[in-house]
Amino acid sequence: MDIIEKLLDVPNIEIESIELTEENDVTITVRSTIDGTRCRKCGRKINKLHGHDEAIMLRHLPILGRKTYIRIYPARYRCIHCEGKPTTTQKLHWYKERSSCTIAYDEHILLQLVNSTVSDVSIKEDIGYETVVGAIRRHISDVVNWDEIERLNVIGLDEIALKKGHKDFVVIVTACDCGNITILAVLNDRKKSTVKAFLSSIPKRLKKTVTTVCSDMYDGYINAAKEVFGDDVVIVIDRFHVAKLYGGGLDNLRKKEIARLKKELAEEEHKNLKGVMWPLRKNARDLVDGELEVLGRLFKYSPMLEIAYKLRNDLTDIFNSDISRSEAQVKIDDWIDKVIKSELTCFNNFLSTLDTRMSEIVNYFINRQTSGFVEGLNNKIKVTKRRCYGILNTKHLFQRIHLDLNGYSLFT
Ligand SMILES: [Zn+2]
Repeated sequence: MDIIEKLLDVPNIEIESIELTEENDVTITVRSTIDGTRCRKCGRKINKLHGHDEAIMLRHLPILGRKTYIRIYPARYRCIHCEGKPTTTQKLHWYKERSSCTIAYDEHILLQLVNSTVSDVSIKEDIGYETVVGAIRRHISDVVNWDEIERLNVIGLDEIALKKGHKDFVVIVTACDCGNITILAVLNDRKKSTVKAFLSSIPKRLKKTVTTVCSDMYDGYINAAKEVFGDDVVIVIDRFHVAKLYGGGLDNLRKKEIARLKKELAEEEHKNLKGVMWPLRKNARDLVDGELEVLGRLFKYSPMLEIAYKLRNDLTDIFNSDISRSEAQVKIDDWIDKVIKSELTCFNNFLSTLDTRMSEIVNYFINRQTSGFVEGLNNKIKVTKRRCYGILNTKHLFQRIHLDLNGYSLFT
């Protein structure tokens, strides 16, 4: 029990029982060791126990990889001072009212969201879309306790769309120091003024410890960071967002080419090209036999797509190389030349971004910083669309997960 209590890392509780459910989830029933609460009417300390509320189940951080829930019967106290002797439920610091998760789990969700999407996290954690959104919303109004923070080092700014296809964004602000990522804040919108106001609110003592701002490609963030930190801080566009942009170029060409081939090829031939999306998105070295064949067939019909595919891989290789900023700049310049010579137009959007944001993009090579979790491992999980719908048992899902650095979301 003592060990489990340590693993739980929830203050002021005692474990009453631990169960393994039929689904092999862990349910830990706890009781609070704190006596009394404050009356919701008069604010006095009260400790005349009235009884216990119905159990609430709170999702918590996994123990040994298993989904873990904490069950608690909140204590209710009666005030003897107020008229009508009202009762108040005890509030505890490790979960918020009406939340189905502990605060620790909420923060875990927020960290998962960095360089990811609400859908991805909901699938990965096997929780509802709204639960993920709930965790985000619960943290919007939180005030940062700067006193608890010793240094910031890398600040990450990542926007998360709350609804698919809507422009309803929040910004997750993280700090990463020596591999430890902490959530600083969730900003209500992605306006430059909002981001700037937050960055400006960082106490002077901590501002001095910021070395890098790792951000999404959005101008609002970059300009806000520049205005607050000036030249003292390196601004990096996260490679994940860069990869998403040039990978998107290849994706668009694929869609066009598949549509063209549908018209030009016999039905039987076109059928043979089914399922090219994921092999195309994978890194070349991760392809398995069947996928290589599909790509071979596709490239026979669409040499253009092969050129674009190789160019995409070349660029990913550059980002994977341990080279200096200036070497990277030269290599990316060469890459741009190759794209222009190829006469492909699918990377045009990306080329114009390089034109304006080259400096922030190659800043990545200074310290290879990304605001995501462990680079290359937790960054991205992808599963095919078909496999995601209606899946109840995530075990099957996870057997089919591929990790990649090409910047894709589960649902695209
Ligand atoms: Zn009272």
